[in-house]
Amino acid sequence: MIFDTHCHLNHEDFIDNTKEVIDAAFNNGVDAFLIPGWDYESSKAAIKLSNEFDNCYAAIGIHPSDVKRYHDSIISDLKKLSLDKRVVAIGEIGLDFYWDKEEESKQKQREFFIKQINLANELNLPIVVHSRDATLETFNIIKNNPVNKKGIIHCFSGSVETMKEYIKLGYMIGIGGIVTFKNANEILKVVSECTIENIVVETDSPYLAPHPYRGKENKPEYITLVIDKIAELKNMDKNEVIKITNENGRRVFGI
Ligand SMILES: [Zn+2]
Repeated sequence: MIFDTHCHLNHEDFIDNTKEVIDAAFNNGVDAFLIPGWDYESSKAAIKLSNEFDNCYAAIGIHPSDVKRYHDSIISDLKKLSLDKRVVAIGEIGLDFYWDKEEESKQKQREFFIKQINLANELNLPIVVHSRDATLETFNIIKNNPVNKKGIIHCFSGSVETMKEYIKLGYMIGIGGIVTFKNANEILKVVSECTIENIVVETDSPYLAPHPYRGKENKPEYITLVIDKIAELKNMDKNEVIKITNENGRRVFGI
């Protein structure tokens, strides 16, 4: 069965149909879901869903684009949330310089990234990393602030070289819908050259729907399109891709 290691079932798009979305995914072979938070409320919602649905797990954290709304005290609020046994990671955290271009906001992102890495280490949890337009800086922060339990570089968009550096540090590479896009380029090389033992699959629902649904609302059931593409690129049996990526995801999160 497939593990969707990054899907926002806590997004408002799924409020009224969570069960249907989970059931449809199950019928397509998906039996585990990691729901990452992006702020305090969505982290709480991820925990709530994980307690409602057997096969859902939560990551809690403040997304880089959301850190501007918070003070340092949010770290202890997250720590309280982490007491719930369905919390298996800190995320999604990282750097996003696509939206925030001013030095002041970039600095706050860096500080909160490191504070949340420290929290992950205190709780002995892995991290789920978001990085956009900040490939090298994200890597340097992770390299200079080692995480005991490592984690996943979600929606990986770096080069083959960066992928190899992350693997040396013990990280998993999160592969999603982008690999199916017509203009996908570097990511095809990344998947071809990445050892299957370091790949996890994800949808990032409701974002980044794979081809031919690009631009529409993404759902975990579409993850088979990502699996098919990985199997094709690596010349592997699809069921083998499913089995190994599932084991990889469970190993990172300890489930
Ligand atoms: Zn996400």
